[in-house]
Amino acid sequence: MPNEENKIRGVIERISGPLIVAKGMLGSSMYDVVHIGDIGLVGEIVELKDDTASIQAYEETSGLMPGEPVVCLGEPLSVELGPGIIEQFYDGIQRPLELIEQAAKSHFISRGINVPSINRSKKWKFDARVKAGDVVEEGDVLGIVQETVVVEHRILVPIGVKGTVKSIGGGEHTVEEVIATIDDNGTKHEVKMLQRWPVRKPRPVAKRLPPNVPMSTGQRIVDAFFPIALGGTACVPGPFGSGKTVIQHQFAKWAQAQIVVYVGCGERGNEMTDVLLEFPELDDPQTGHPLMKRTTLIANTSNMPVAAREASIYTAITLAEYYRDMGYSVALMADSTSRWAEALREMSGRLEEMPGEEGYPAYLGTRLASFYERAGRCIVKGKDGREGSVSVIGAVSPPGGDLSEPVTQNTLRVTKVFWGLDANLAYQRHFPAINWLSSYSLYTQTLDEYWDARFDDEWSGLRVEAMSLLEEEDQLREVVRLVGIDALSREERMVLETAKSLREDFLHQNAFHEVDTYASMDKQFRMLKTIVKFHHAGMEALKKGAPMNDLFNLKVREQIARMRYLEEKQIDDINKLENVIKEQISAIVPDVSAEGGEQNENVA
Ligand code: ADP
Repeated sequence: MPNEENKIRGVIERISGPLIVAKGMLGSSMYDVVHIGDIGLVGEIVELKDDTASIQAYEETSGLMPGEPVVCLGEPLSVELGPGIIEQFYDGIQRPLELIEQAAKSHFISRGINVPSINRSKKWKFDARVKAGDVVEEGDVLGIVQETVVVEHRILVPIGVKGTVKSIGGGEHTVEEVIATIDDNGTKHEVKMLQRWPVRKPRPVAKRLPPNVPMSTGQRIVDAFFPIALGGTACVPGPFGSGKTVIQHQFAKWAQAQIVVYVGCGERGNEMTDVLLEFPELDDPQTGHPLMKRTTLIANTSNMPVAAREASIYTAITLAEYYRDMGYSVALMADSTSRWAEALREMSGRLEEMPGEEGYPAYLGTRLASFYERAGRCIVKGKDGREGSVSVIGAVSPPGGDLSEPVTQNTLRVTKVFWGLDANLAYQRHFPAINWLSSYSLYTQTLDEYWDARFDDEWSGLRVEAMSLLEEEDQLREVVRLVGIDALSREERMVLETAKSLREDFLHQNAFHEVDTYASMDKQFRMLKTIVKFHHAGMEALKKGAPMNDLFNLKVREQIARMRYLEEKQIDDINKLENVIKEQISAIVPDVSAEGGEQNENVA
């Protein structure tokens, strides 16, 4: 904590919305936290010229007057780390919303309220994992605390500390009590469960790992066609009503991540409230407990000033890194980063910086990169070589759905996956409304290797073939639109049929159906294989003169359409379809001796 005597005190010279200009700030540093005015609003220095500091205030500044004091705390904006983060709702600077609300005795967040981010009085049962005499280094697990029914919180040796354990506590402790003393050649470190970390500084890791392990989500279009790796980054634009909320909920529930960090920047106050109200209601199918038991939420409601939004994504990613360091895979979802960028634009405007494209500051791209670059899979600090990851899914809300605008473009430059949510698909009730033609994933090839190893080298071939059938469908549809379906050959008609099956029986996935909502990779593989098998057998049969109508209306096609509703324990039934396909198709293929091929068929 900052030293009282060393505090620098200045005075407010000018106030412009969330921007405060203060004089007499010599000796303070960029990004130092300040308390502004008699009321003590929280702010951060964003520009320093001689003894004049420009400060972004994280709270509403009305009522402040020039001449009021500004106190520099001499430390950067930091978050508190320790048990008690999970299940919390925070604002952008990690103040628990509930506590501020109680303190303010109203539903609006009041200002200048100092509430601790982590409960100081709650006692946690600390289970030591080291003993006196052990030699420890930064990142080693000192002990564990059961934070919620599903999250085991690992208390780590803080970054920068190493030595011999002199004493280690067991039993019940508050986060401020010393639980271990560590001696580093005569320097004594007292370790508490409560630790602090500056939000703008990435937490160090032992070794970065390549993104070659998938983060399955159970969502077929994502896992099969546009997969994200553990520690990967993705961008998802969300036109209104395109199913963005549902998709985020699906990821939170089903993605292979033990911890979920959700940061929301609402457009209007009530939008954020939706998330606040909805998340606690969600059940976690993976654990059988509420999803909140492994989630922390950061909410920027619209009645908070823009600067708090600017800070919120750093707060979020620092919390995510902290859980990564324990050895967890963490999924961070930010919705929407466009609102975050608007905050950046507003502050930049007030600082009178040279505006770049559409008024956004020239450093928009660098700032976005510095956020997404903190994602990754790694070996974390600590002797036991734990692996952890932070995967980031950032939603953007381009005005009018125009993806060429700066925030989307700069985001696409740094993220590796793009899930193009499409309002038209949503309108046709094709969910998830991810456009398979415009979406992409730069992890696909690396992850193909992973899945090929698991699925006898069959995976990538299937994926590529299925995707090219979908692309071919798009071209054929254009032909049909121009000159009619009769212009297509029998083989081309088969391509349309298979593509339709891929769309309706594979890509389409009902988030609200108890079975369809999630598909394991095993199931996805078998489903895809069956559809492609039918395609091959169908093509073969058409060549041999099988009637198109009969082929397209085979009974087995109903079974293919119902594969998605088969439970995981029934997936062997999907394999059996292969024989059914063979039998039914051979029944409609005419004898070689008989006359083959029919002309001018029409399919219903
Ligand atoms: P947005 O957040 O983009 O405005 P929502 O996520 O609220 O949109 O989705 C709008 C509606 O679309 C939902 O209420 C739901 O009926 C439907 N929907 C979206 N995704 C799916 C899905 N995967 N399965 C079934 N229905 C969906």
